[in-house]
Amino acid sequence: DRPRVVVVGSANLDLFAETPRLPRPGETVLGTSVRRAPGGKGLNQAVAAAAFGARTTLIAAVGEDAPGSELLGALRESGVDTGRCRTLPGETTGTAVITVDEEGANHIVVVPGANSSLTPLTGADREAIAQADVVLCQLEIPVETVAEAAAEARRHGVPVLLNVSPARDLPPELLDSVSVLIVNEHEAEHLRRGRAGIPPGTAVLTTLGPDGAELAGADGETPVRVAAPPAEPVDTTGAGDTFAGTFAAATAERLPPAEALRIACAAASVSVERPGASASVPARGETDQRYRAFYRRR
Ligand code: ATP
Repeated sequence: DRPRVVVVGSANLDLFAETPRLPRPGETVLGTSVRRAPGGKGLNQAVAAAAFGARTTLIAAVGEDAPGSELLGALRESGVDTGRCRTLPGETTGTAVITVDEEGANHIVVVPGANSSLTPLTGADREAIAQADVVLCQLEIPVETVAEAAAEARRHGVPVLLNVSPARDLPPELLDSVSVLIVNEHEAEHLRRGRAGIPPGTAVLTTLGPDGAELAGADGETPVRVAAPPAEPVDTTGAGDTFAGTFAAATAERLPPAEALRIACAAASVSVERPGASASVPARGETDQRYRAFYRRR
């Protein structure tokens, strides 16, 4: 049986408008193109876990609208189980409106919509969590729901990976249920400044962009650092999500942490060479190939 990953997180429709330059307040500019794509950290990370071959369930909420059905359809096409996704009447699907200029500078407005109403967990959600090999969360949904999912996982001995994104202070009871905190360098800085303090049993995995990633083990073990396979970046959007979802799937396969780190770096390295977030997630074969080409030589 394939290892199981349960992702608890957001699903958004990303709407992009490309324009020669960003408008000033009150100004209208003519754009050159518009496109839409499935997004949200929960959705992107679930797609990455499924692409690596984990049996992946996403616990998420969308609105009763066309974007909601669009996201659920896209998830199913990516092989993600949407049986625990709810469609909430009277809510709008989470939407990110992204204006990008020719230099890649952007304005982003995120309207969380249904993501804010992903609470509380149902009995069926708890059952899925109890049967998982790994639970993966981020912070684009109510933190109470994340804490509830993490506590349930902990009760059943299921490791919890928490991507601390967007960065915020974490309630101590949530920190106590987490096995691995996943952060980029900016979020790592936020953690260091935080007052809560990281419990000794919690590992911290920091992604370092083109420099790879580092896992500082629980209980003060020596950190493991891995280099990233070199890439020719086209669009790094979604690199962090590809990394987190792939790391969760590799951890669910019970691969040793250093090996899971290398595999996640290989997947993320392929993803930066392609445009889009969930659209840039590589298939397992592509990840394995990048992994062999870089790490087997060393
Ligand atoms: P993003 O916000 O762009 O999704 P992030 O800020 O969350 O990313 P990063 O640390 O920038 O996270 O990148 C995540 C992972 O992606 C890195 O650990 C690395 O494995 C891979 N990666 C990012 N940029 C590059 C690059 N230029 N070349 C190779 N790998 C990269």
